Amino acid sequence: MQVSVRVPAKINLALRVGPLRDDGFHELTTVFHGVSLYDEVTVSDEVGSDQPSDQPPDHLSRRFTDEGGDGPLLTIGGPHGSGLAADASNLAIRAIDALAKAAGRTPRARLHIHKGIPVSAGLAGGSADAAGTLLACNQLWGLDWPVARLLPIAQKLGSDVPFALVGGTAVGVGRGEQLDPVPVGRDLHWVVAAADEGLSTPDVYRQLDALRAAREMESADPAVDASLLTALERGDVRTIGGLLANDLQEAALELRPVLADTLRAGNAAGALGGIVSGSGPTCVFLVESAAHARDVAAALVAAGACASAEPVTGPAVPSF
Ligand code: ATP
Repeated sequence: MQVSVRVPAKINLALRVGPLRDDGFHELTTVFHGVSLYDEVTVSDEVGSDQPSDQPPDHLSRRFTDEGGDGPLLTIGGPHGSGLAADASNLAIRAIDALAKAAGRTPRARLHIHKGIPVSAGLAGGSADAAGTLLACNQLWGLDWPVARLLPIAQKLGSDVPFALVGGTAVGVGRGEQLDPVPVGRDLHWVVAAADEGLSTPDVYRQLDALRAAREMESADPAVDASLLTALERGDVRTIGGLLANDLQEAALELRPVLADTLRAGNAAGALGGIVSGSGPTCVFLVESAAHARDVAAALVAAGACASAEPVTGPAVPSF
């Protein structure tokens, strides 16, 4: 048996970062939005069969449990698959182990990840793979647990994993893991402008802390602008474009100054709003329509303002 799940990348329409907590995480309030840029996770129980033919051997990882031979086998491919470790550090392996433990069984399965989401890009691709693994193995192993039963497992794997399980648009609070769905009045069109090289999320948060310390700034409790939620519900794209907000943006721009050029180029091309996605370095631009997205993407590429620019839509949800 084989099960495939496509899980969307996330962008943050608003990301408000509050004080650093005792557990080392920042208190956040964010509006997550899934967009149609996907990783696909395929799981099967044919652990003994050959690796998929499109996979070079260096992306093959076999890990055995103490009992021997019952661990998952992971392969990674796709446009953003190279260089990503297919070992126990991979979030998909952590997810399969966590689900197997919760279900009281061995994590025996063959896993293949087709990475369409750039790595370390502020798009939560690792979280998408963890969520896809939970959803796919839930079906492969015949658990058929409701998503509500998978959410606490997702929460332990990472702050963005619970949202990746459900997708759509949602306010996230705490570390971003407590979710409240947000209705959106129409499909939104975006351009996702990717960079050549990723940014480390912890580095960006550290830079923000340093900026705030230098300014002796007390960080207030984070809150999302209620007018953004109203504009989303109405599908009022011009207002949404003006309300995109990211407290990590200044820190990401300090670490990667060239992103200011990317944002300028997108705005000059007529985007309704542009922002660094999460911890960056990906920039996202809200546009009027699919045709507008193609024009803005072409202008960004022609200006040499990013490594690649892709038109996408949101909200997007995981699908089997
Ligand atoms: P974060 O989720 O930490 O905010 P991000 O969204 O910017 O990060 P990801 O692509 O999720 O970026 O990668 C973050 C880190 O997770 C990288 O260091 C990467 O090596 C590691 N990682 C582990 N498993 C995966 C995976 N399956 N896909 C992508 N990255 C993974």
